[in-house]
Amino acid sequence: MSITLERVRAMDAADPLRHLHDRFLLPDNIIYLDGNSLGVLPAGTLRKQQDMVLNQWGHSLIRSWNDHGWIDAPQRIGAKIAPLIGARPHEVIVTDSVTVNLFKLITAAAALSPDRPVLLSEAGNFHTDLHVASGAVDAVPGMRLEVVPRDAVEDAIGPQTNLLLLTHVHYKSAARFDMAGITARAREAGARTIWDLSHSAGAVPLHLGRDGAELAVGCGYKYLNGGPGAPAFLYVAEHLQEALTPLLRGWMGHATPFAFSDDYVPAPGIARFLAGTPPMLSMAALECGIESFNGAPMEALWAKSVALFDLFAALIDERCSGHALDCISPPDPDLRGSHISYRHPHAFALCQALIADGVIGDFRAPDVVRFGITPLYLGYEDIWNAVERLARILETGFWRDPRFAVRGKVT
Ligand SMILES: *Cc1c(COP(=O)(O)O)cnc(C)c1O
Repeated sequence: MSITLERVRAMDAADPLRHLHDRFLLPDNIIYLDGNSLGVLPAGTLRKQQDMVLNQWGHSLIRSWNDHGWIDAPQRIGAKIAPLIGARPHEVIVTDSVTVNLFKLITAAAALSPDRPVLLSEAGNFHTDLHVASGAVDAVPGMRLEVVPRDAVEDAIGPQTNLLLLTHVHYKSAARFDMAGITARAREAGARTIWDLSHSAGAVPLHLGRDGAELAVGCGYKYLNGGPGAPAFLYVAEHLQEALTPLLRGWMGHATPFAFSDDYVPAPGIARFLAGTPPMLSMAALECGIESFNGAPMEALWAKSVALFDLFAALIDERCSGHALDCISPPDPDLRGSHISYRHPHAFALCQALIADGVIGDFRAPDVVRFGITPLYLGYEDIWNAVERLARILETGFWRDPRFAVRGKVT
């Protein structure tokens, strides 16, 4: 039985999260399926930035570090992320980028087990993770990086493994690792796991404490809607915090930054993972992005993500069969994140044609077109319209237009 537009509209009418859409400023006539790459603009961010620039920076100037709570922002915003990832408030801090935070965690945690030389990761992991890992191991005497295929990761954990570096939800396929199972498996073998939550936080319910996660990082500008280049977050379970000494050190992570002492003494707890001065305008934007989740339980958001994803997949099956689209995302919700990806022999041109038609998804080399499903602001009719436009592009061959074959820009 085919899905009708009436049925889809009824799903929107029954959606308890529908009103959240109004918290964001979205362009007209665009269906935005890229919130897993760059989140959208919360309405509150605009007001907040004006206040930050005119009042806090412009008027209060340096007094704002105290008067407007700038100095506490990394901890305060981290504490607001904590409930989204199932952590305790003092276990999360906002700082730097995912890449830099991975360097901090790898180098600090590797030193806990100096007799274990291997940092293990997945081939095809997000490239920045592998790049920073390759540099971080050079900073730790005797350490080396081993990269194995995804299905060989668990069996590769052994007595030599010091750290396992995994991305919880794969950026391309959306395949999700079993956080509790793998973390426990690594611990039994004497290894620790660093989880990259870039494609999970704000989309998939996370229970870092319950699942035994000890170390993690995550992205601020994707599902958290923190704005372009938003700072990232870093998580260390309470029991490990005092045992870790960062290799990347700075005054903001010092026990007494304003004593201006020559000697480094790490701040107590998670604050030792700060290095330099936080970018306050970006911090404020991230705080607004996180506040746009207020009153929206992760379980409810996830239930809607699952329903949107399933609708997307069902509509593609109905409307686009025979056009060589091959879904590479797991059908089982427990095994996936919140984006849906398809292989197509002309994925690049298809993606460009979709963008020209107002459906923004993205292309991932060599042959994947990826659609982010963000339940905070997408409705069921958006999914219907996106698939309608995709079906028309495939039927008419619009994607064959030579202008869609030109590569080279950032998408
Ligand atoms: C987006 C993303 C990053 C981003 O890293 P930055 O250093 O913050 O730019 C890192 N890892 C994964 C898995 C990502 O998806």
